[in-house]
Amino acid sequence: MPITTIVEPFRIKSVEPIRMTTREQRAEALAAAGFNLFKLPAVDILIDLLTDSGTGAMSAEQWAAIMRGDESYAGASSWFRFRDRVQELTGFQHVVPTHQGRAAERILFSCIGVRGKVVLSNTCFDTTRANIEAQGGQAVDIPTPIANDTQAPHPWKGDIDLVALERFLGERGAEVACVVHTITNNSGGGQPASLANLRAASAICRKRRVPYYLDACRFAENAWFVKQLEAGQRDRSVESIAREMFRLADGATFSAKKDGLANIGGFLASNDDALAAQEEQLLILTEGFPTYGGLAGRDLDAIAVGLREVVDEDYLRYRIASTKYLGDGLRRHGVPIVEPPGGHAIYIDAKAWLPHIPPEQFPGHAAACAFYIEGGVRGCEIGTLMFGGLDPSTGKQRIAQKELLRLAIPRRVYTQSHIDYVVEVGREVAARAMELGGFRIVDEPAQLRHFSARLAPL
Ligand SMILES: *Cc1c(COP(=O)(O)O)cnc(C)c1O
Repeated sequence: MPITTIVEPFRIKSVEPIRMTTREQRAEALAAAGFNLFKLPAVDILIDLLTDSGTGAMSAEQWAAIMRGDESYAGASSWFRFRDRVQELTGFQHVVPTHQGRAAERILFSCIGVRGKVVLSNTCFDTTRANIEAQGGQAVDIPTPIANDTQAPHPWKGDIDLVALERFLGERGAEVACVVHTITNNSGGGQPASLANLRAASAICRKRRVPYYLDACRFAENAWFVKQLEAGQRDRSVESIAREMFRLADGATFSAKKDGLANIGGFLASNDDALAAQEEQLLILTEGFPTYGGLAGRDLDAIAVGLREVVDEDYLRYRIASTKYLGDGLRRHGVPIVEPPGGHAIYIDAKAWLPHIPPEQFPGHAAACAFYIEGGVRGCEIGTLMFGGLDPSTGKQRIAQKELLRLAIPRRVYTQSHIDYVVEVGREVAARAMELGGFRIVDEPAQLRHFSARLAPL
């Protein structure tokens, strides 16, 4: 018999306690949080799958790098170690350090100028879309059509629709500020884009002289899928595939809280001298001097090491296997998930799972609350609660394309037995799925409402 246990390719040197609560305590905590999981105190959560962003465990080498951090205001050696690794990996000349990914997005969209213009994407992440709209631009998603079928086990649902891209740039190219390819496609199920698609999208954008950017938060996970699943890529290293992906683009935004294996940080990079000069000015105004951005020297060092560790193939094999393990477990108990399992998260298809709850009553959120009440597991709705609300271009209430509950897996944090527990919680929720009810919003802010809205059960 082959050995199938996933052996985490690390051992544990430092531990952090997590504690069980009773069902009554959880019900009380959730009500006190206005039925918004973002407002729960983390101590009331057992397994936290809210996000994989900044929640990873750093390695001994990263902690050692923290001690080497140079906190000089200007020209710190930490900056040069960070910049050198980013340049080596991405090939981009200009590296703008930021405190996280959304700061890179805000600076990019301010400087590239999106007012009255369109940004095309396979799928814009929530902060990306919000930053485009906050600058008076419009985000238009053109994912590959198969991505809309949550059940098709197609490997490249992170592809951009090349026919739609070609057509849009042909007909309305002058209106397009840039194209942003999100790898992997977080809001679309953590699905990878193929190298073939990235190459073709890059060629179309070059021909039309429209800047092609990567939202590269999960570049290493995407490169791993390319190595495993794309014809002719198996013998290449993940580092080599990642380098090619970046070199197909004109620039990239990055959150180091994902594949930077760090708790904070990010960057904006490109080869455009004039644009980069403008970006540095805005950086100085709002984030910090160009050799630290919004970060401490020690953060830059932790990221520099993280950007090497994340392309380690033992790490990536474990990472992707453990995500799939969660997906396989939930599917076995009849929970419909977005197929195939993504890189960093499993996305439960709440529209298929809870058909009795209409989108306006947030089925993904109902599932999220049920996971918390059942077993102290926190996930995140990605559906009409996140993407709904008033559409600034039509003045109508938006309904999301998909109603999902995302269970995102922090990097190097939970073991296989933690995941076994989550699967069992899923089984218990599945047994009572038809009894779950929807929610309504009590009050909400104008932007990114899912972070701070208060809700009530119906
Ligand atoms: C997390 C994320 C961002 C934003 O990064 P932050 O560090 O959270 O600001 C942008 N795009 C994608 C795809 C992400 O996953």
